[in-house]
Amino acid sequence: MSQRAQDTGIKVIVVGAGFAGLTAAIECHLKGHSVLVLEKFSELKPLGDVISFGPNAGRIMARWANGAVYDRLYPLCHRNKELNFYMWNGEFIVSQPVYPLNRETPSVNGHRGEIHEIVFQYAKELGIEIRLGCQVLEYLEDKDRAGVKVNGETIWADIVVGSDGVRSKARELVLGYVDKPKSSGYAIYRAWMDSTPILNDPLTKHLVENGDTHTGWLGPDVHFLAASLKNGKSLSWVCTHRDEADIAESWSLPGNLDEALKVIEGWDPIARRIVELTPECVDWKLVYRDPLPTWISKEARTCLAGDAAHPFLPTSIQGASQAMEDGVVLAVCLQLAGKENVPLAVRAYEKIRYDRVRRAQLLGEETREMWHKADWDEVKKNPDMIKLKRDDWLFLFDCEKNTHEVWDETVKELTEAEGVGNLIQPSPVIDVY
Ligand SMILES: Cc1cc2nc3c(=O)[nH]c(=O)nc-3n(C[C@H](O)[C@H](O)[C@H](O)COP(=O)(O)OP(=O)(O)OC[C@H]3O[C@@H](n4cnc5c(N)ncnc54)[C@H](O)[C@@H]3O)c2cc1C
Repeated sequence: MSQRAQDTGIKVIVVGAGFAGLTAAIECHLKGHSVLVLEKFSELKPLGDVISFGPNAGRIMARWANGAVYDRLYPLCHRNKELNFYMWNGEFIVSQPVYPLNRETPSVNGHRGEIHEIVFQYAKELGIEIRLGCQVLEYLEDKDRAGVKVNGETIWADIVVGSDGVRSKARELVLGYVDKPKSSGYAIYRAWMDSTPILNDPLTKHLVENGDTHTGWLGPDVHFLAASLKNGKSLSWVCTHRDEADIAESWSLPGNLDEALKVIEGWDPIARRIVELTPECVDWKLVYRDPLPTWISKEARTCLAGDAAHPFLPTSIQGASQAMEDGVVLAVCLQLAGKENVPLAVRAYEKIRYDRVRRAQLLGEETREMWHKADWDEVKKNPDMIKLKRDDWLFLFDCEKNTHEVWDETVKELTEAEGVGNLIQPSPVIDVY
């Protein structure tokens, strides 16, 4: 049964086919808008390692194709029952249960490339036009339309979504100046590997021999997390540590395992052995920024979504989830506002999303501080204090339902605010792709 709503006539250009862009594209298509996706990669490659989507994003995917997309994701999902915390020296601290994996709380934690491929394929199955090898070089807009310059062509639509990642070009149009990402002061060594060497080593085999596990070691200004996935057949680890190095242009650089071992000098031999058994790792310089003053352009015909609008620290475990929520909320706002009110929809999108995203971002900062600056005497008295915050406001949130609930109030506030909002003012016919 088709899930597509009635055609709205709204033309959307989505720049970037990461999780923000693909979700915006899928949701816009499902809500009746016409979508063109432009992605600079010339082919789809299963890049990256482990990525996490909380139940708030899993429920978005679980709705697609009446559950068929989630059925494809399910075999790839991490199936641990708890996250076990240790001090850096190997002393056990506490075990934190995780949400059970089911359709009510559908977390999706697994290999980024594999999950991305499934979402990408679903977008293709819906018939969404995705042009690869299209690097957008310039963003344009006037009162009635927004456009992009790509491969020598100028393409116009009703709205452009700049979901072009942490080094966003769209951000220049939105902010009116170049705003380079800065180092967060941290970097992460990351690896994804076949777990056979881990299984063959007596020190580490308990991490993989009985299915999936999740283990964290916490120390001063460093944390090390290891997850076994696919019934213990794969192992992924991340080690976050201080690093002031300049931001590289690529997502990640090849990492040096000896350097990674230096970071955890004197730590639990189990954590060290994992690194010793790892064939290769990457070095991901963590990019961060203070919140942008706005995610939308002057004419409200161009907006940012995902990392382009709000990079996350991995300790929030919400970057990809919030990127997906952006796409859903934008698509619903456009549907509710209609073609004549695209700028209003874009303003409403920002208003609905901004504070929630900020709250989720801050959670990541709090968690990192809590882990890296832990007073271990205090933690031993109250081990629960180092557990990850799994608040219902964040994880059990239905962003689609919420957008419908807050829509009228949001429009009222926007239209009442001086100089903002323009409900039901017909725009001239626009030139679109
Ligand atoms: C290759 C890659 C691997 C990653 N691996 C991991 C991982 O293992 N674990 C993890 O937690 N996070 C990973 N991330 C980051 C994570 O996917 C994002 O933080 C999160 O999902 C938010 O997604 P996003 O769509 O906003 O940004 P991104 O995932 O960065 O997607 C942005 C997309 O925009 C495209 N793009 C950029 N500029 C242009 C342009 N000018 N024109 C057209 N297209 C453009 C990029 O090629 C990219 O596909 C990875 C990102 C990338 C790009």
